[in-house]
Amino acid sequence: MQQWNAFYELINSDSKRFVILTHQNPDADAIGSSLGWKLYLQKKGHTATVIVPNECPSNLRWMPDYAEVITFDQNAQTVAQSKKLLQEADVICCLDFNALHRIKGLGSLAQSSEATKILIDHHLEPEPFADFAFSDTTKAATAQYIWEIIKQMGDAELVDKPMAECLYAGIMTDTGSFRHGNTTPEVHLAVADLMRTGLNTNYVHRAIFDNNSLGRTRLLGYVLSEKLTWLPEYRTVYMTLSLEELKRFNSEIGDTEGIVNFGLSLENVVMAVLLIERRDEIKLSFRSVQDFSVRELANKYFSGGGHKNASGGRTSTSLPETVNLLLSILPEYQTQLLNVEK
Ligand code: 5GP
Ligand code: MN
Repeated sequence: MQQWNAFYELINSDSKRFVILTHQNPDADAIGSSLGWKLYLQKKGHTATVIVPNECPSNLRWMPDYAEVITFDQNAQTVAQSKKLLQEADVICCLDFNALHRIKGLGSLAQSSEATKILIDHHLEPEPFADFAFSDTTKAATAQYIWEIIKQMGDAELVDKPMAECLYAGIMTDTGSFRHGNTTPEVHLAVADLMRTGLNTNYVHRAIFDNNSLGRTRLLGYVLSEKLTWLPEYRTVYMTLSLEELKRFNSEIGDTEGIVNFGLSLENVVMAVLLIERRDEIKLSFRSVQDFSVRELANKYFSGGGHKNASGGRTSTSLPETVNLLLSILPEYQTQLLNVEK
């Protein structure tokens, strides 16, 4: 309550300089919640800038005000600009991630800034760096949380169609288009409220999902037909993609997003894993159903974490070695995997 009152005062104070940060490889919830929050802060009379650690995928660049977003790692100028903004900021908001070290260079700049820090997130185990921490894993998306905070502020009427588009994009994608177990009544209520602004949900859905390049569509076909391994004894599916294969399909940032979910759509599958070779690491995406938690596994063996049913991790070995590591740990989880009701 005390936190809320001080937070309320801050948001309702005279014009302040806000900087909004979100996680590496921004997804629709990261950039959608950030832009929605930025548009709100501007309506409250503040100045606000969104900085992303690296580039957003092309299917998210339609969002209102995306043109104003600063991509930190783009060039020396964007690095310098970000440094200046963070040094001069009165308030830094961290959206859709739980620890500053996860955004590397940008995180250390934020850490050393004197600004008041706000965290708004729905991941487990937030690090205690923020002056105001709104961290709630029952929220399906950070964008849902943003909407609820604006409503609690008494500012629901400030939310217009552009803000609703940004927030809806985050809610829709983090719930897997309202399919995942995190799709609560509150999710649908938030969407109902957002739709009253004139939001066209069909437009947002098409902008995000029906905008694939030919390369991405062919890449998906290739992975599913050639690179998918089904391990019935572990009810696990895994898929791999090497740098060479990504290059062959002219893969761009974001092109591999969502591929792992196709693994989960298979009959009887409890866990799906996508292993992607990047220049400096192997990135793993884990997805699961029901009570089987991939978060613990991602954390214990792959220096990662996330949510119960959607986590990520990485190794610094080769792709074949990472596959071997995955295969070697599966027996530990076999009983759990076999006992899940699907
Ligand atoms: P994705 O597979 O889409 O990269 O990640 C799935 C989920 O896990 C996302 O919510 C993402 O934020 C989270 N995640 C991915 N990598 C890590 C990590 O290294 N640490 C933590 N704590 N979460 C991660
Ligand atoms: Mn999210």
